[in-house]
Amino acid sequence: MLTFLPIRWRLAAWYFCTLAAILTFVAAGSWLAMRRSLENALDLGLTYQLTGLRDYIAKSGATQPEDLPPRLAPISGLSDLFRVYDAAGRLICESTALTSRHVTLPAPRDADSTVRYRSTVSGFPLRLAYQRYRLGQRTITLEVGDPVRKFETALQELTADLWLSLPILLALGSVGGFWLSARALQPVDQLTTDARAITASDLSRRLAVPPARDELRRLSETLNLMLDRIENSFQQVRRFTADASHELRAPVTLIHTAAEFSLRRERTAEELADSMRKILREAQRTARLIDDLLLLARADSDPTAFSLQPMDLAPVLDEVAEQAGALAAPRAISVTSSRAPGPLDVNGDEASLRRLLLILVDNAVKYTPAGGHLTLDARTEGDEILVAVADSGAGIAEEDLPRVFERFWRADKVRSRELGGAGLGLSIAKEIADRHGARLEVASQLGRGSTFTLILPRL
Ligand code: ADP
Repeated sequence: MLTFLPIRWRLAAWYFCTLAAILTFVAAGSWLAMRRSLENALDLGLTYQLTGLRDYIAKSGATQPEDLPPRLAPISGLSDLFRVYDAAGRLICESTALTSRHVTLPAPRDADSTVRYRSTVSGFPLRLAYQRYRLGQRTITLEVGDPVRKFETALQELTADLWLSLPILLALGSVGGFWLSARALQPVDQLTTDARAITASDLSRRLAVPPARDELRRLSETLNLMLDRIENSFQQVRRFTADASHELRAPVTLIHTAAEFSLRRERTAEELADSMRKILREAQRTARLIDDLLLLARADSDPTAFSLQPMDLAPVLDEVAEQAGALAAPRAISVTSSRAPGPLDVNGDEASLRRLLLILVDNAVKYTPAGGHLTLDARTEGDEILVAVADSGAGIAEEDLPRVFERFWRADKVRSRELGGAGLGLSIAKEIADRHGARLEVASQLGRGSTFTLILPRL
């Protein structure tokens, strides 16, 4: 409702409606209370009048209804509006003031010893009190009245006062409401100004967090957390771009140098072939690096880059174990592999999982000296499938363990590059694991070997 209005106006409108409802409620309540208390006062006065009339009749010496005169002039100290009826409801005595007003009034039928009240509305509106009274051997009904005009006048005055004061109060309240909502929203405006001042080139700035634990504080904190994440991503992208350019420059420089060397003067066929081999090796390395970079870029920009479907991991493991043997043999590294019998069903992308396992195996071979050992083991544990690739190689220092999955991170840049790595293998492996809802964990001891474990949810 009212969504097309600015929030300040909406708040003021809500405030106006609430105030109007409260004021109407209070006004109606006071009007009713006033009417009730006026009526009570009137009835109390009438009860006294009734007692006065009874005393007057008692003192008048009348012993039966017929002794009473049909007309009675106003009695001092008493209301000049009264009537006396006999037991049959016939009028036997009336104040002259009432006669002159020609009030048509039926006799009360339910009179008894208690004081009862009634009202007439037509002609000359009256509030009346009546009661049964014993006169000698007979019963009569006494009734006294009071015009409701003065009571009505007081009520009308109150109504007029209310009609006058309500709009004024409402107007004042609305202005106050508008001012209040403007004041309440001012910190939001401030927040907007502060947030606008934070640009891509100045992402380290943060919004001020108000001390009170309220919505604004939560908003500032949430925005600050969002800025943390944005700043982090920005830094990652910057670092990634810088690292990628750096990594791509090295092979290009080598290709350039090799080509220049060949062209500088006449070369023998052997020298030319050697240069070509160098160029080919560096071109292959560049192509591999570009492939890796593309894969990571695609994974970053498209969360659906991997198409997961139910598959059996067992044949993939057998294939990887075979390739591990082929990779390890030239370096005299022995390979043992074992896996739980039967299918290992997972929801996965076969090519990506194969690539992940090959990265782990390739690393194990690369960073294990000749004569070392590599184990590939797959087992199930509850709802999970654990694939561990363990080696008896160089190992990773404890302080470096949290960094192994970072893009371009290498414990020993020179050595790793010699082995053909750019520090992207494990980040790709981690990316693939993440997309499978899997965990990739590492345990390692420097100089003793490392174990990388892939923990996949079982289908
Ligand atoms: P790279 O292409 O350099 O191998 P990775 O991302 O695969 O890149 O690995 C990052 C770094 O982690 C490697 O440079 C190496 O220092 C370390 N590392 C990875 N696997 C092993 C392992 N099995 N044993 C010892 N160090 C490893």
